[in-house]
Amino acid sequence: MRNPRFNVLFEPVKIGPVTAKNRFYQVPHCNGGGYRDPSAAAEMRRVKSEGGWGVIFTEQVEIHHTSEITPFIELRIWDDDDLPALAAMADAIHSNGALAGIELAYSGANGPNLYTREVPLGPVHMPIATFTSDPVQARAMDLQDLRNLRHWHRLAYQRAKRAGFDILCLYGAHGFGVIQHFLSPNTNQRTDEYGGSLVNRARLLRELISDAHDEVGDTCAIAVRLSLDEMLGEQGFSNAQLRELVATHPDLPDLWDFAHGTWEACSGTSRFKPEGAQEALIHGIKQLTPKPVVGVGRFTSPDLMVRQIKQRLMDFVGAARPSIADPFLPNKIGDGRVEDIRECIGCNICVSGDMTSSLSRCTQNSSFMEEWRKGWHPEQIKAKASDSKVLIVGAGPTGLSAAHKLGLRGYEVALAEAGTDLGGRVTKESRLPGLAAWARVRDYRVGQIQKMPNVSIYRSSELSAEDILGFGFEHVAIATGAKWRRDGVARFHLRPIAVDPTMPVFTPDDLMAGRVPSGHVVIYDDDHYYMGSVLAELLISNCNRVSYLTPSTKVAEWTVNTLEQRFIQTRLLDLEVKVSLSSALKQVGSTYVTLASTYTGKETTIACDAVLMVTARLPDDLLYLQLKDRSAERSASGIKSVNVIGDANAPAAIAWATYAGQRYAEELDEPDRGDALPFRREVAALKPGRLA
Ligand code: ADP
Ligand code: SF4
Repeated sequence: MRNPRFNVLFEPVKIGPVTAKNRFYQVPHCNGGGYRDPSAAAEMRRVKSEGGWGVIFTEQVEIHHTSEITPFIELRIWDDDDLPALAAMADAIHSNGALAGIELAYSGANGPNLYTREVPLGPVHMPIATFTSDPVQARAMDLQDLRNLRHWHRLAYQRAKRAGFDILCLYGAHGFGVIQHFLSPNTNQRTDEYGGSLVNRARLLRELISDAHDEVGDTCAIAVRLSLDEMLGEQGFSNAQLRELVATHPDLPDLWDFAHGTWEACSGTSRFKPEGAQEALIHGIKQLTPKPVVGVGRFTSPDLMVRQIKQRLMDFVGAARPSIADPFLPNKIGDGRVEDIRECIGCNICVSGDMTSSLSRCTQNSSFMEEWRKGWHPEQIKAKASDSKVLIVGAGPTGLSAAHKLGLRGYEVALAEAGTDLGGRVTKESRLPGLAAWARVRDYRVGQIQKMPNVSIYRSSELSAEDILGFGFEHVAIATGAKWRRDGVARFHLRPIAVDPTMPVFTPDDLMAGRVPSGHVVIYDDDHYYMGSVLAELLISNCNRVSYLTPSTKVAEWTVNTLEQRFIQTRLLDLEVKVSLSSALKQVGSTYVTLASTYTGKETTIACDAVLMVTARLPDDLLYLQLKDRSAERSASGIKSVNVIGDANAPAAIAWATYAGQRYAEELDEPDRGDALPFRREVAALKPGRLA
């Protein structure tokens, strides 16, 4: 039963001509599938409708072919050919009574048009502002271009309505849309009636919204998504200017949706941004307008949601990542099952799917974007196909995920863990600076497993091959994890580096086990994700002097994909870590290391007291290999299958481990698929006459 203090979250709220059934508002978010994987994207939104969201949005939808953001894969509403996919998504969203929202985007100076080859249009002549510094400029729009832009928007409004959407939201946040480019004095230095004063810079927004009301406002709500602060002072669209805009146009849209300035700031990871981080920026804005307000903040705590609603900071709890990690978050609060919420850990692996134009995945919710492809569901799973008993060895994210999902299927499961702690790497990593939220991966699964009478956990149980052969489980999954290498092997060096045995060489496993070097430590980061920089912070807090070297041109290069790279490099520089980029470790001497420029080969030495290798990992697969070799004994003890899964199979990020655990559970007792693909996909349909 719902706790009455959460009732406020379930009040209906009117948005122009439509009414949301509650205050849970899934703000637009990318998923890496978009126009390439329309059914996968639609089914993902349908599951959220099932989970109780009152409003569910698409990702950004490009309104016209003169503005697109290839290589990133979103949706398009360029012509009627795009409507079937959009209509399928609107239908999916409506399936359980949610309002369907579409985010209409004209990227302008953010769209390099690499696919359509059209000349991009911006408020002024300016280079395209993307992540990749494309060698393309936008042309300044003249008044005819602006008339065209309004016309293209009108076409998009009509199509969005025909596709069945209830809320049309104009995208002007995160630095990404033409609306923001016109609002911001940073990008709008026009001298005509569209530039200069805020009234002039807001002219385009007024015109676009008024056209939308005129075109479809009788049935559709018109919303706008704006940046709370570009963080460029008065040079940019500041929080003060946003407040002035709302105060002077209080009735302009049917709903105001506010996001932080840049995408990096808005979708910050838990390492850099706490839950509810934009509270100060949004505070008081609602009082300037009679129209409902949406705010975001990686909200997973219902108490914080209630407080922000009751303090009249906002009317809707906006959420992207919390809705990805747990599509059933509203229903769980509504049904009084708050302890079952699978909380987002704020890792931004989901964002990396968009950044790499692959299909997004989620560390906490392995079903994300597999709802249609594989038929996975975040809350349900098919019943067991036999009465086989399953032994899982290792209670890291892989083992916990496998045990949880097998338990849900109804199998009898034994989960054996060598240590006293559950959680494996997530438990260890969650004790490092900034990574406390990682522990949610363990806590959610342990919380669920503990309710299952058919899953037994055995701690302090380091199993040998003999033990396993003696037990007689039909299925055995080896999820024993991986260890960091000490020999310098990773991407740059595929063979071990020469190391003087008198130099203390540490690995992340050593530091996580509490063995910390003293004095000046050189960190060699050829991993390029978070670990090197996190351990730099740990060492600084331990009063070590730290030098960080990496063969990459950036600190923690891959974190560009999680929107953290700038924050990480800034933090290390602020902590006075000496950073050497494009530098490969060549040799480790007794009191020094030699590094070589990855470009010129020029060598330098750094005197140091210890070296920390953050390089590759090796699977802990000995147990698996021992069992694999003993097939006769396996058969004799009734073992039908032995599988190695997760990091013990091939080390990767935590999201890969939870996925591997779920996949093992989903596919146990499934018939062999032979050469068939293990997922569904959509292949582009050929137009008639293609050979003419
Ligand atoms: P993953 O990310 O694949 O889950 P982890 O390294 O996080 O891998 O977890 C592996 C877990 O397996 C660790 O908690 C470790 O203590 C446990 N483990 C390793 N070897 C054994 C073993 N022989 N018996 C039981 N548990 C083991
Ligand atoms: Fe949250 Fe990470 Fe899942 Fe994204 S991938 S929703 S940040 S847990």
